[in-house]
Amino acid sequence: MRILANDGIDATGKKALELMGCTVVTEKVAQDKLADAINNEKFDGLLVRSATTARKDLIDACPGLKFIGRGGVGIDNIDAEYARSKGVDVFNTPASSSQAVAELVMSVIFSAARGIYDSGRNMPTTGATEFESLKKKYSKGFELRGKTLGIVGFGRIGQALAGYAIGCGMRVIACDRTTDDYKTLTLDIGGHDVKVNVPYMPFHALLNQSDVISLHVPKQANGAAVIDREEFQHVRKGAILINTSRGGVIDESALIEHLDNGHIRAACLDVFVGEPKPNEAILKHPSIIATPHIGASTVEAQERIGLELADNVQRIMNQK
Ligand code: NAD
Repeated sequence: MRILANDGIDATGKKALELMGCTVVTEKVAQDKLADAINNEKFDGLLVRSATTARKDLIDACPGLKFIGRGGVGIDNIDAEYARSKGVDVFNTPASSSQAVAELVMSVIFSAARGIYDSGRNMPTTGATEFESLKKKYSKGFELRGKTLGIVGFGRIGQALAGYAIGCGMRVIACDRTTDDYKTLTLDIGGHDVKVNVPYMPFHALLNQSDVISLHVPKQANGAAVIDREEFQHVRKGAILINTSRGGVIDESALIEHLDNGHIRAACLDVFVGEPKPNEAILKHPSIIATPHIGASTVEAQERIGLELADNVQRIMNQK
């Protein structure tokens, strides 16, 4: 099979595909030249991350395409249902990134709780001249043990995050579309399986009780916000908000207002409206920790993603 990995692929995944007899091309093709490249170079498969889109027009223009694989979780950059209706196999790698995203969230919770991100901006410029005042500024941090983490969307990543947070002594509550009372998780603590029950809460109760709120939902229908201007009224004063799921699930302009009026202590965003050109007011806000959509971008996760993609290609080859 000839495969175009248009947003790149980890070397281990590429090697696995090559060992299966596939040819893998990783030279990036511009979006407007993609259909021609797929047809002219007779690619059987297209692998993407989040940058390349595979919409209806591309699918229609490439009748020889057998599959589209997304290295990652959300497949909102692919018209998946339409592709499947045309006999094109569409797959993603849902299991591979949960741990990496959960660890990013823990790192920004620690950073926000102690002002590390802001200290990192100020120490290089004024650390030598204003050491004592900076010391005073960053001496009002808080500890995580005993604080409440509210997780909105309790799927793979939400549950992976719960394990880390519980390990740090946080009280974890969750809400999801399900109506269950609680979810029992089995945590691996030093090689021992420990069972814990994470209670489900109604959404507004969770917003009100949580010192830290982290969203782990997919892109909502019509790009709707899960925490919109109205929902901010239910968020506990002084809370930290985290969004590593999809740009826009927190209303960005309402977020800026509530950071400016002191209702929200800090926000940590890995995903943005208008990626790859996020709103500058968000990027420059002193109370926002911004990372450029790196949730799943660890060496380990990229390797797992590459191998999960290769497994899917093998499945398709076995069907032929
Ligand atoms: P998942 O499907 O396992 O879990 C999502 C959960 O959200 C589901 O249980 C669903 O019922 C719930 N949900 C959906 N809408 C909801 C709502 N309005 N309120 C409450 N719950 C709701 O997905 P996952 O693997 O945990 O991934 C979550 C999201 O994280 C993905 O959809 C993707 O957008 C994002 N993600 C981001 C990165 C990154 O690099 N930052 C990496 C991987 C995934």
